[in-house]
Amino acid sequence: MIKNLLFWLTVTIIVMSTFQSIRQKKYNLKIDYSSFLSDIKNNNIKEVKINGKEINVIKKNNNKYTTYIPINDLTLLNKLINKNIKINSTPISEPNLIISIIISWLPLIISILVWLFFIKQIYNNSKGALFFGKSRAKTLIKNNIKTTFKDIAGCNEAKEEVKEIVEYLKTPNKFKKLGGKIPKGILMIGSPGTGKTLLAKAIAGEAKVPFYNISGSDFVEMFVGIGASRVRDMFYQAKKNCPCIIFIDEIDAVGRRRGINFSGGHDEREQTLNQILVEMDGFNSNEEIIIIAATNRPDVLDPALMRSGRFDRRIIVDLPDINGRKEIIKIHTRNIPLNKDVNIDIISKSIPGFSGADIANLINEAALFAAKYNKKNVSMKEFEKAKDKIIMGTERKSLVMTNDQKELAAYHESGHTIVGELIPNHDPVHKVTIIPRGKSLGTTFFLPENDNFNISLNKLESKISTLYGGRIAEEIIYGKKNISTGASNDIKIATIIAKNMVTKWGFSKEIGPISYIDDEEIIYTNKIIKNKNFSNYISEKIDKEIKKIINKNYLRAKNIIIKNINILHKMKNKLIKYETLNKNQIKKIIYKSKINNLIKNNIKNKRD
Ligand code: ADP
Ligand code: ZN
Repeated sequence: MIKNLLFWLTVTIIVMSTFQSIRQKKYNLKIDYSSFLSDIKNNNIKEVKINGKEINVIKKNNNKYTTYIPINDLTLLNKLINKNIKINSTPISEPNLIISIIISWLPLIISILVWLFFIKQIYNNSKGALFFGKSRAKTLIKNNIKTTFKDIAGCNEAKEEVKEIVEYLKTPNKFKKLGGKIPKGILMIGSPGTGKTLLAKAIAGEAKVPFYNISGSDFVEMFVGIGASRVRDMFYQAKKNCPCIIFIDEIDAVGRRRGINFSGGHDEREQTLNQILVEMDGFNSNEEIIIIAATNRPDVLDPALMRSGRFDRRIIVDLPDINGRKEIIKIHTRNIPLNKDVNIDIISKSIPGFSGADIANLINEAALFAAKYNKKNVSMKEFEKAKDKIIMGTERKSLVMTNDQKELAAYHESGHTIVGELIPNHDPVHKVTIIPRGKSLGTTFFLPENDNFNISLNKLESKISTLYGGRIAEEIIYGKKNISTGASNDIKIATIIAKNMVTKWGFSKEIGPISYIDDEEIIYTNKIIKNKNFSNYISEKIDKEIKKIINKNYLRAKNIIIKNINILHKMKNKLIKYETLNKNQIKKIIYKSKINNLIKNNIKNKRD
């Protein structure tokens, strides 16, 4: 814009000055009147052009100049005629019309341009703040929604509940006849990527009604009142097209508890929230508008939102379990050519905690890997790579580890692997690698047999032991003074587990089954407040118990590694050689050495 402005300014100036110079070029020499008179006397002049008081003179030698008549010299004409000089005369000339118009309008034009420039800036900054209050909901016409229940898996309970709503929308009269009220507001609760948007869309798709999609954060603008008028506009549009579905994603962006604010007052949000409530109360159940709001923070929502007649229905959309994940993988690989070696069971087992969106991402990444290597179909290898990439961030293959670092990482990961494999009650090892990813220099993966919701005391203790396996291996090999910081995350996790065992899960005999932890999030301060509602005596006891659990399991791990020190060296060598070992390779290393040891010992025993 500034460039444009400057450009046009220079163009105008150039045009104006050329005009001026063309006009004056020929006669720009100014001569006094007396010289002019003497020129007449001396017969030097061929022609004059009289233009009011200005006289443009052409001399006989074709030199040109301009002079001005000082007072009304009435004798001049006679002198010119006497000397036979050609006389031209023009009416008293106005200054050039176009130029004078331009000159008088120029300031105005410039100020208009500057004004437009600033408007454009404001417009860009506030992304349409000038279209005050136009709803920014994206509308999907009923024929455009292709999503159906077939595209969703893994959240069966939510799906069942939602099916009911499709019925309402399809045959509202059936329910109204019996005096039933069609729900106005539904709150979908679940972590990001679990398919809340997908479910809402599928309702619209199944019931064949229009779908309005807006995010709570779209209402929050820098000018107070815009959000509220956007809400008004959205409902206005929806009413024209009812029955329909309005989907408000991230309702917590506007629907936080009112009155208590972290950053002082926030009128805008409050007004927007009030407007939503007013609109919801305003339309009656004859207007079949169903508002579906999604959040993963139901605890921070204003209670007024949940009152009956508003978002009084809650649907929980869970993370998928092992079978759910399998179904979701099937859905998303419908149009992807898979290699024969792809085993959906194994993939699904290895991605606990993945949401539907994560799975979609995983499959996409795997397909991209396959395309990158010009493969005809996607094989298990690509899935493994994609999974590692998503879990750990992109491989840092370019980072060059020194041989010493590599050896340390190999001992450390071998320590985890050996303890994890040999300690009872532990998930089997799936893979170990010393390819650095994200922050860690290596990783050991364990694969649970099935989803663990309740974990036993034994299993937790074994987990603590395994977590210390890395540090212990370093300590045994390099000595107490040469251990590295690489175990910091292991230590952190182990400590958290031990702490929870004592203060939350009631696993300590000394403390008993009493909860001493208060990790409820306190809404008002948005901070975790550890209520210290127990005495120093208990606090000391808790510390002692935590230490006891950790010491016990640290020693268990240490014993395992000392007993199997030759396996540790062997695995380290293999890891340095191959960088990644899979389940079978790990088993081979561990159990082959074990058998060898047994045989050796037997022979030794016999000799003894
Ligand atoms: P949310 O709204 O809960 O954050 P979305 O509905 O936007 O999650 O999910 C994003 C994408 O993830 C979807 O478009 C879909 O491809 C995939 N997805 C998520 N959950 C599921 C599911 N349960 N079944 C199938 N695909 C899913
Ligand atoms: Zn470790």
